[in-house]
Amino acid sequence: MVPTTFTQLGLNESLLKAIIKEGYTEPTLIQNRAIPSILAGKDVLASAQTGTGKTAAFALPILQHLYENPGFAGPRNIRALVVAPTRELAAQINDSFSTYGRFCGLKNDAVFGGVGKSNQIHALAKGVDILIATPGRLLDLISDGALSLQKVEIAVFDEADRMLDMGFIRDVRKIVTMLPKKRQTLLFSATMEKEIEALAKSLLQDPVRIAVKIEEPTVEKINQKLFLVSKENKRTLLTKIITEQHIERAIVFSRTKHGADKIGRILHSAGIENGVIHANKGQGNRTKTMEAFRRGDLRVLVATDIAARCIDVEGITHVFNFDMPSEPETYVHRIGRTARAGAEGTAISFCDNEEKKLLKQVERLIKKQIPVEQAV
Ligand code: AMP
Repeated sequence: MVPTTFTQLGLNESLLKAIIKEGYTEPTLIQNRAIPSILAGKDVLASAQTGTGKTAAFALPILQHLYENPGFAGPRNIRALVVAPTRELAAQINDSFSTYGRFCGLKNDAVFGGVGKSNQIHALAKGVDILIATPGRLLDLISDGALSLQKVEIAVFDEADRMLDMGFIRDVRKIVTMLPKKRQTLLFSATMEKEIEALAKSLLQDPVRIAVKIEEPTVEKINQKLFLVSKENKRTLLTKIITEQHIERAIVFSRTKHGADKIGRILHSAGIENGVIHANKGQGNRTKTMEAFRRGDLRVLVATDIAARCIDVEGITHVFNFDMPSEPETYVHRIGRTARAGAEGTAISFCDNEEKKLLKQVERLIKKQIPVEQAV
């Protein structure tokens, strides 16, 4: 297949300039398929995971639509809405809009819970073109009279399966009733189970369906290694590998919050700058840690699976499975944090005697045996 270029997708000069600045050379599969349909004003139902380039697949055509059809929705009104399940994801999507839209002169902002409302109310009063929001805070701001959805032209529901998993279905349905009937709607979900199909039916009109899978090729590109190691020796081994191999940007996954804290302390005492994120860390703390990790001030991020689900940091060279995950699919999610968008990456798993069953499950899922480096 001849690769399509961003120019061939019909994107304008301002967006092309930003794309070049980001160093993207060609569109990903989901971008190839979704951008023309979204630009044509169609509703889209896309099955795509993080790592496929899905954010740009909806952000670029939204920016183009708003840029080419200039207008100001007015105070407390917006033209495009993106609903996302978590604060982290909302903040990331907002950053993506800022990056891709840097030459468009549009205003984007994110609102989510866990932080004060007054700054958000103030920003909305001044006017925002594109708003990225978590469901709870969005409804809150609407009931406060700080925002109306009446002028929304395009609405996106991102990671819809996670929104359902997290119990946001009622909130999502409520948000939908507040949107104008005449609008364009895009629904993104990693999986397409029955509930998503039902939601899609009630949300979308005659949608273009797009399915993109990333897991297999990504996993194939990752250099996977396994250490058979006793529970007691895991910490020493981790410190040793990070130090000796001069690893610069790694995520270490821990099955528990307590375990994550412990790993953080051990690395710290070995002089390895690291940050720990899990559900018990406050929002401010998590954001600070993520920023420091992105900037490269921290070499290592220690995370639990929930906290790490939508971390999107470029240039992660190593993923460590300090504990084998209890669900085999989690292994694929974890190691997919490295080798993003064409880069290479290494995944190193530590497996103790009690975890061998979990290792078998993983190997069955990825249909290969992970080469054993050594027994420790
Ligand atoms: P996403 O699936 O939206 O979370 O994106 C995954 C990663 O791919 C992000 O770090 C993007 O910056 C990057 N990315 C998105 N589109 C492209 C592209 N066309 N070429 C290279 N990298 C990309």
